[in-house]
Amino acid sequence: MDSTKIKSVVCDEIEKNKDKLIGVAKEILENPEPGFKEFKTSKIVSREFDSLDMHHESEIAITGLKSHLDSGNPGRNIAVIGELDSVKVLGHPFGDQETTAAHACGHHCQIAMMLGVAVGLKASGVLESLSGKVTFMAVPAEEYIEIEYRDNLRRNGEIEFLGGKPEFVRLGHFDDIDMAMMTHTSVPTNDSKITIGGTNVGMVGKSIQFSGVASHAGGSPHLGVNALNAAMVAMSAIHAQRETYRDEDSIRIHPIITKGGVAVSSVPADVRMETYVRGGSIEAFLSASEKVDRALRAGAMTVGGSVTIQTLPGYLPIQNNETFLDLYQNNAAELVGQEKISRLPPHVMHGTGSTDMGDISQLMPVIHPYVEAASGNGHGIDYVIDDYELAVVTCAKAMAMTVIDLLADGASNASQIISENDSPLTIPSYLSLLRSMTKEETFKE
Ligand SMILES: [Zn+2]
Ligand SMILES: [Zn+2]
Repeated sequence: MDSTKIKSVVCDEIEKNKDKLIGVAKEILENPEPGFKEFKTSKIVSREFDSLDMHHESEIAITGLKSHLDSGNPGRNIAVIGELDSVKVLGHPFGDQETTAAHACGHHCQIAMMLGVAVGLKASGVLESLSGKVTFMAVPAEEYIEIEYRDNLRRNGEIEFLGGKPEFVRLGHFDDIDMAMMTHTSVPTNDSKITIGGTNVGMVGKSIQFSGVASHAGGSPHLGVNALNAAMVAMSAIHAQRETYRDEDSIRIHPIITKGGVAVSSVPADVRMETYVRGGSIEAFLSASEKVDRALRAGAMTVGGSVTIQTLPGYLPIQNNETFLDLYQNNAAELVGQEKISRLPPHVMHGTGSTDMGDISQLMPVIHPYVEAASGNGHGIDYVIDDYELAVVTCAKAMAMTVIDLLADGASNASQIISENDSPLTIPSYLSLLRSMTKEETFKE
């Protein structure tokens, strides 16, 4: 069978399963869970792998899963990735009332797309025409949230890194992977349906504790040390540093207070903050991170308290492989029309979100297209998927067709892309880089 014929039977198979695939996306939408807590979602994926008769590993990095399809011919190993977790947004229409978890980033569609690629390649019986393997990964915790909770998991030895893909790398699940792809949902820009290319910033996370002394807030504040005021000064100091950042570094710093005191009548003695420090290059966000630490120390110094700053590696900037994108773009154009695809140049001003797909892109050829099937504000209460057929079915087809391009003809396209890709890091150098970012400091005036 030639590639065109293989693509056509695989797409027919995905089309046949479209109601089921969209059903899985909506079932996950109704069961949102934040990272490393995706127990229900993980069961759904396991059930769906079972229904495809696909043997799989589970409980990888707490909730992750992995399965593969093998052509039986030597070739390359392509990972198709879906993210299990939701973000947390108060008041989202599909949110969990109790936990505030909500799929306000559209990850529920990714799992369905990944399963769509699997059903297309498996049920159509085309595998033996290809060379190599396809590995399906349902990865936890892309949203880098609940830093204090995850830092406790880290201290207990359950994880080392706070994102799912870095954990998959650490545990060796990318050791035999040659290339990786996934598709993320987003809202339409201009008149396009799919946006590809561009870059994203990287980041570190911080978990911060200001410590003071409790005392009667009305009767004897002079005997207390107010940790909330320390945090307030630190935030003002962080704002005062903003003029020092260059536009081209796309620095973003956005702290939250997760605990502000325990009783209004008592001087706050234990105040917790979390923040990201993002930037367009590793050097840029690490340099900004040092400035933020200075601002945090200034808060503690002002009130005469102390601050403990836990800095943790976050995610690295993303780079898409341009030849890999060409293949994807040709396939997506057949499905939605070339005029509905918007392609960003590789070095435009950085997108200022971050993803751990960036980490994978430092190790191997990666693409991370966006399907503009949603409306509302990402991570906001109004972010919902309007076009499930586009988000789930079309994207499953586009990725399956791209897998076929990579693995047909003895996997010659995959081999060419891999040989030409200039990966900045190897897995060991990546892991040492992340470990070098981990830092704990207690500053007391
Ligand atoms: Zn998100
Ligand atoms: Zn996301």
